[in-house]
Amino acid sequence: MISHLVEAKAGELAANAQLPAFVYDLDALKGHVAEVRDALSAPGAPEIFYAAKANPDVPILRTIAPYVDGIEVASGGELAHVRDALPDARLAFGGPGKTDQELELALHLGVERIHVESPYELERLARIARTAGRQADVLLRLNLAGDRAGVALAMSGPFGMDPELIESCTEILASSPNIKLHGIHAHLASGLNDAAMVAQSAEIAVWGRSWLDKIGHIGPREFNVGGGMAVNYAAPEDRFDWKRYAENITTLARPNETLRIEPGRAISVYSGWYLTDVLDVKQAHGQAYVVLRGGTMHFRTPVTKQHNQPFTVLPRSSNGPRAEGQPVTLVGQLCTPKDVFAKDVQTETIGVGDIVAFSMAGAYGWNISHHDFLMHPKPTFAYLSR
Ligand SMILES: *Cc1c(COP(=O)(O)O)cnc(C)c1O
Repeated sequence: MISHLVEAKAGELAANAQLPAFVYDLDALKGHVAEVRDALSAPGAPEIFYAAKANPDVPILRTIAPYVDGIEVASGGELAHVRDALPDARLAFGGPGKTDQELELALHLGVERIHVESPYELERLARIARTAGRQADVLLRLNLAGDRAGVALAMSGPFGMDPELIESCTEILASSPNIKLHGIHAHLASGLNDAAMVAQSAEIAVWGRSWLDKIGHIGPREFNVGGGMAVNYAAPEDRFDWKRYAENITTLARPNETLRIEPGRAISVYSGWYLTDVLDVKQAHGQAYVVLRGGTMHFRTPVTKQHNQPFTVLPRSSNGPRAEGQPVTLVGQLCTPKDVFAKDVQTETIGVGDIVAFSMAGAYGWNISHHDFLMHPKPTFAYLSR
């Protein structure tokens, strides 16, 4: 669970009145992403583009970059930010509702692949590329139907194009010399284990091959099969099996094909901690509430995922109230009943002044949270690396 380094840092931050804090263990992150890279290094293994939206913090990006092939960005803001932090990184730009300005920026900043979300976006990109005198290198984003049972989040709805809508790109492509089609992109679901991920990727490749054949596409082909590798917050040690995934995904690509994946959460989640301390403990209608400094305006993950965020209590002595041997609900300082980190969790003892270290805070944490709600102080950011 919690490492000595993170624990020591927590003590130091508490002593200096610097809680709440996000602590990112860059050594742990480096070790993890190096393992993923190592698993996916054989010929035929997919290229890895880290999805910046999981955590675009600059030291995180710079730690990950040497072990991946590129970065996937999902807005003009992320694009400018990542280009600035990593001037030489290969970039892919996806996401619905791209504006003309964002498409211009993508061409201007040398994005390697643009993932096109609709026929209208393709038309606009063709016009912008012609005006700029540049070539736009694209993948068409596919939205396949199908039963994605058991997944954490099915990306149905407005993302990409269903097979029927993709058909209407054929004509636009034929009349757009500034667009070069390289293949198909799809990000269909998140929370998939290795077997489900391989099966879904095969489905995308089979569809992509037959469609590209049908429209007479020649030359090398790319299938970006998305991210969404499973992360288990209830059992953090149960991690996506990158080795077994590698064994099966590596056989998928044919000689003229490149596979690409864009994981976010499964790369950065394990190396982040949200550390804070207990301000009050009280009973209300038979329930024990532990009120923490900060709240889900800093760390919204448990609210969006509707789960109990895993945590460790680091005891410190104080004279304040305590809850002993009873289930506790951990809440923050916000004036809303939704400000809950974990509900009815059995703990031995927890009291005022104790430090609470939430793990699994390295992805979709700070950057998805509504920081200004109630105007409490912002957290401290600290980075561990030797
Ligand atoms: C969010 C997103 C990802 C990353 O998903 P994770 O679940 O964090 O791995 C990858 N590709 C696209 C298009 C996305 O929207």
